[in-house]
Amino acid sequence: MAARLLSREQARLGDAAKTAELGKLRNAAQQVALAVSVVQNELLRSLQAIPPDQLKETLSEWERTNPLVRNVFIWRGPGDLLLPDTSLPLTREERGFLNRYGTLFDGSRTWIEANNGKESSSYVPQKLYERAQSVQPEVNGGWIPWYWENRLGMIGWVQLSDASPRYGVELEMVALLAELQPVMSADVQSDRLMVLKDGAGRSILQTGRLEIDPAIQPVLSVPVGPMLPHWEMALYTADGVLVGSAQGYFFLSGVLVAILFVVLFSAGGLLLREAHRHHIDAQQKTTFVSNVSHELKTPLTTIRMYAELLGEDRVTDPEKTKRYLHTIASESQRLTRLVNNVLDFSRLEQNRKKYQISRFDLRDAVEEALQSQRIRIGEAGMELTVVLPDDPAPVESDRDTIQQALLNLLDNAVKYAASGKKLDVELKAVPSGYGVYVVDAGQGIPEAHRRRIFERFYRIDDSITAKSQGSGLGLGLSRRLLADLGGTLEYLPASNGGACFVMTIPGVDD
Ligand code: ADP
Repeated sequence: MAARLLSREQARLGDAAKTAELGKLRNAAQQVALAVSVVQNELLRSLQAIPPDQLKETLSEWERTNPLVRNVFIWRGPGDLLLPDTSLPLTREERGFLNRYGTLFDGSRTWIEANNGKESSSYVPQKLYERAQSVQPEVNGGWIPWYWENRLGMIGWVQLSDASPRYGVELEMVALLAELQPVMSADVQSDRLMVLKDGAGRSILQTGRLEIDPAIQPVLSVPVGPMLPHWEMALYTADGVLVGSAQGYFFLSGVLVAILFVVLFSAGGLLLREAHRHHIDAQQKTTFVSNVSHELKTPLTTIRMYAELLGEDRVTDPEKTKRYLHTIASESQRLTRLVNNVLDFSRLEQNRKKYQISRFDLRDAVEEALQSQRIRIGEAGMELTVVLPDDPAPVESDRDTIQQALLNLLDNAVKYAASGKKLDVELKAVPSGYGVYVVDAGQGIPEAHRRRIFERFYRIDDSITAKSQGSGLGLGLSRRLLADLGGTLEYLPASNGGACFVMTIPGVDD
């Protein structure tokens, strides 16, 4: 629509420019016609005013002295010329003159037929036309434009009465054109040229400084008028097109519209992306809430079940009682861990998480966390191997937080890699402090998910993950907690194809 509007606007501007230029051109043509008719009328009036008895002398005098007069004649009828006097030897100019207007003087062309004098008023303003009429109406006369060898000449003639001869002058065209020069000083733009061209297309007068290639066509032209038949006023432009400025406007508007579209599209794109992000966020949160509820429900059910069994005093076997109590304890631990995760997550989101920094031996913290999970790991059918350094591993950090991160890793190994039947935990010194390696022999994490498992709420969508409950919080949360404590959490593929998670914690000097 914008393009259509623009092209319509361009066409309108083009038309307006054309109309304006045409107006200027017509005006210039009118000025030329006007100047010509002023000269012609003056001459006709002067011709009329010649006393009949001094005709020959006056005309001969004119021929010699008036720059606008090229030749003079007195014609009494076909073949009967008083002037130029054919009985005397003729000059070259006179011979040429008689030759040019031969058909007029020998009567083969009628004078009236050739006279376009009156029609010439069509391009002459009213005032001048009235002046033209001031030539006494009863006096016959007028101007005849005359083409000879592709050049325009003009003869003005008068016949005072039917009985008197026709006499007149041939106009000196060069002098006439000199009279036109001031008219052609019209104001034209620097990239334009206005040219008065004769019937043969020759440039007679021009205004403007532009150099024009002769092969180029004018962009506009108008006829000058019947007094100068086939002459025209033509307009040239440097690039041969009239509406260059309108095209510039079109280009500029096009650019503006394009910018508008780019802005609209990018803003739209941004909004869409934002909306999409919100949608994903909302979806993740809903999934998260249902995942967490599930995770809470399972240990709670187990705890309630065993507690009821024990409460009814129906279990007499001390071994069983011990096992039930143990299950209740470990399920409560799971609950605690889960609740801790959720609480920490919300604290981190709101920047409210506080750490209890103390100095401790990392070996003890790791050992303690493992201890709480030994039975669960055993029940999952996994063989646990622990390697701790002989030397103390002193750190200054938040002990609970580090244990929480490690418990998340152990929990994941039990949930997702029990099939590998092996779990190796090793604590060792690394360049940045201490590293805790948790290596299982499960299926590992496929390449495509390795980065994303650390995103919040992200869970791999496969059969193993589907079987176990989880909120997608553990890894992302652990990484953020460790980062807050100056450490890291990374995934490395284990050589046996399983998963290897490495926590690092900055160490302190003894
Ligand atoms: P959750 O365990 O609550 O789903 P996590 O952030 O702890 O969330 O883990 C993200 C995902 O990474 C898990 O859903 C699981 O698909 C995958 N994952 C984590 N640990 C392991 C592992 N040891 N072996 C295989 N997959 C794992």
